[in-house]
Amino acid sequence: MLKNDQLEQWDRENFFHPSTHLAEFARGNLPHRVVTGGQGCHIEDRDGNRLLDAFAGLYCVNVGYGRQEIAEAIADQARELAYYHAYVGHGTEASITLAKMVLDRAPDHMSKVYFGLSGSDANETNVKLIWYYNNILGRPEKKKIISRWRGYHGSGLMTGSLTGLELFHKKFDLPLAQVVHTEAPYYFRRADTDQTEAQFVAHCVAELEALIEREGADTIAAFIGEPVLGTGGIVPPPAGYWPAIQAVLDKHDILLVADEVVTGFGRLGTMFGSDHYGMKPDLITIAKGLTSAYAPLSGSIVGDKMWKVLEQGTDENGPIGHGWTYSAHPIGAAAGVANLKLIDALNLVQNAGETGAYLNKVMAEAVGHHANVGEVRGEGMLCAVEFVQDRGSRTFFDASEKVGYRIAAALLEQGVIGRAMPQGDILGFAPPFCLTTSEAEEIADKTARAVASVLG
Ligand code: PLP
Repeated sequence: MLKNDQLEQWDRENFFHPSTHLAEFARGNLPHRVVTGGQGCHIEDRDGNRLLDAFAGLYCVNVGYGRQEIAEAIADQARELAYYHAYVGHGTEASITLAKMVLDRAPDHMSKVYFGLSGSDANETNVKLIWYYNNILGRPEKKKIISRWRGYHGSGLMTGSLTGLELFHKKFDLPLAQVVHTEAPYYFRRADTDQTEAQFVAHCVAELEALIEREGADTIAAFIGEPVLGTGGIVPPPAGYWPAIQAVLDKHDILLVADEVVTGFGRLGTMFGSDHYGMKPDLITIAKGLTSAYAPLSGSIVGDKMWKVLEQGTDENGPIGHGWTYSAHPIGAAAGVANLKLIDALNLVQNAGETGAYLNKVMAEAVGHHANVGEVRGEGMLCAVEFVQDRGSRTFFDASEKVGYRIAAALLEQGVIGRAMPQGDILGFAPPFCLTTSEAEEIADKTARAVASVLG
């Protein structure tokens, strides 16, 4: 293990950490952690702590840590051919095989997959393809993208605009003008607490219709959404939401992008969230679970309808003006092939569904009765606990009290990593799919203790 007493100093002096309070970190007021290893659902740090990672990194290490099959595939690929590009018809056995494996698992009407490196760049690709598509169809005005408040789609210029969280916009001059936001399907936080779930879905639909009416359907190209809102709070949609939204989009000839960066490849207990909720996307964004984060790789899966127009576009204009040096990088592709094989061999999609349901059940039993727990919710291997100041009146804590962060910190002290979601007092869980029932119980028990230590 690396033992270098200077590491902390080097870290604070040189390393620009993402999503970090930069000044506090530089001043030494935020902890730093050097992660040195991982096995199954646990990571280790260089101070000798062994932690149960109930967020699978950033909901990405879906098969768990320490999988030698994937490490070997990466090493073999690096030894044989570390790199060749994918431009102008080039590929590797790994990238071609992975494209086939992805399409075999995707909904039937999907046609091709373009590989990038991150969820953010895959969504940037999606927006470019959408604009190209409407230009080829002779509809240059049809360009705006509708996203939801609390949606998370990345942190680039366009994708940070699609993201509907204030922190990602404030002081960055975002969102860009081509992006408009609509209501989040967040039943627990509905403004009118008398609404039934069905009435709330009707309200979300009415909000969307009104937005389309205001902007003009001929200016709106696409709607992007995660099947289950992730970073915005781990919020499964109310029953009937997706079919109702899909009907509006179909009526106005608006494309649907299913951002399955979190839900793709099994997290909901089905291969894709689109299958789970009956969505008919024109584009599907994939990343994290594609390689279980053993190497960076993402993808945009393009449906038949768009693909035909992209081909037409290149007949009219020449090769598609889109591509990166590292598109379909062979090492990422080799990791992806090994990862998807492992998911099948170990039946991990099924385990995500079953043990995920168990985690949600034991979590509800452990903390659901607490006066400050407003809701325990989840789907598949996703679970969230939302805290409220007063349950009867559904009053939320003031953000300055940092309740969610304090509970996540108390949980960490007991050796379990949960994530304080960035907007609201919400503790999120998204463990690896290989979670066992006893690990699920440990997460729930320790969460109850953490809640009690902060809120009494
Ligand atoms: N889309 C969703 C739904 C995500 O959750 C994320 C990241 O958490 C992204 C896109 C962006 O992916 P990346 O961080 O790899 O750019």
